[in-house]
Amino acid sequence: MTNSVAILGSTGSIGTQAIEVAQMHHLRVTALAANTRVDELVKQARILRPELLCIADESRYSALKEAAAGLGCRLLAGMDGLCEIAQHESTETLLNSVVGMVGLLPTLTGIAARKPIALANKETLVAGGALVMKAAAEQNVPILPIDSEHSAIFQCLRGNKRKQLKKIILTASGGPFFGKTKEDLKHTTVEEALNHPNWSMGSKITVDSATLMNKGLEFIEARWLFDLTPEQIEIIVHRQSVLHSAVVYEDESVIGQMGVPDMKIPIQYALLYPERLPCPTKPLSLTDYGTLTFAKPDYDTFDCLTACIKASETGGSAPCIVNGANEAAVAAFLSRKIPFLRIGELVTAALNEIPSETLTCYEDVRRADSRARAFVAEKLRTES
Ligand code: MG
Repeated sequence: MTNSVAILGSTGSIGTQAIEVAQMHHLRVTALAANTRVDELVKQARILRPELLCIADESRYSALKEAAAGLGCRLLAGMDGLCEIAQHESTETLLNSVVGMVGLLPTLTGIAARKPIALANKETLVAGGALVMKAAAEQNVPILPIDSEHSAIFQCLRGNKRKQLKKIILTASGGPFFGKTKEDLKHTTVEEALNHPNWSMGSKITVDSATLMNKGLEFIEARWLFDLTPEQIEIIVHRQSVLHSAVVYEDESVIGQMGVPDMKIPIQYALLYPERLPCPTKPLSLTDYGTLTFAKPDYDTFDCLTACIKASETGGSAPCIVNGANEAAVAAFLSRKIPFLRIGELVTAALNEIPSETLTCYEDVRRADSRARAFVAEKLRTES
């Protein structure tokens, strides 16, 4: 169990909950990094007094300097700052909860410095899974998943023989548009897409949940984390988000992990691993729920999910391409430049039109990612 944690993405939904968990269990917070929110970052620093404080958006460094004056923290900025935290001597465990592919280099840097990684940044594994898992194996560094589904699988795999695993069951809430057709979703607004039934999260992941891209990314993430073939992953829609995922063994025993939909449970499991201590969340009352439902996903309506599975089967840079195209398309949707269904069309087009290449180093990943973003930008430019 760790004594301290450095948090990248500290002002986001996972970051703030991680601070709550750290405080409850008296873990020292040695570093905090946020993307743009200087005021909230400094507010956290006033309470937690970390050694290092970083703003990823370099244009806000002077604002950080002004706001954090007298706090006694070393101030950092940009990707260099994130990577400095990742490998700093004061970092015992690195919790990476930044949003998007930008999290990859800090993860690789942390692994190279042999820091255990509590990973909430799924794009890290989607875009650069081959590099991350290879480096983690070489350095013997644990990757502790914070995504609720992957935490569930990680927990269900404990105490059993890995080679007797038959497959995993990855649960999906189905998002706000479960049961809808493409026709129904033609005029979906940003507000509708941001209204998730079970989980309260940042805007990028909430849109990803509405398109089911999130589940597609998690499919790819699970393949890397648990070394599975695509055939070994069954996705099922479970509307209540109580069963967080399950594993199936050779004897057809199914072992699942349940709990209320609260990210503090997987965050705490990653931070206190392998300990289980009281968690600041509600107990699960199955009788309050009464009924738990399970259904097959609708692959025709949610083409982002289909694209991710296809990309995972293709391998190479294909997962990185669907991820990059999605990041660009979601940004365009959130700034109201494209309709909701266009996200899936752009992700699918990027997958079909950009050839997959082998990824051997970080620069390869970055290039494939840029190519996908440029592809989307070009499509948007020629359409407008
Ligand atoms: Mg999840």
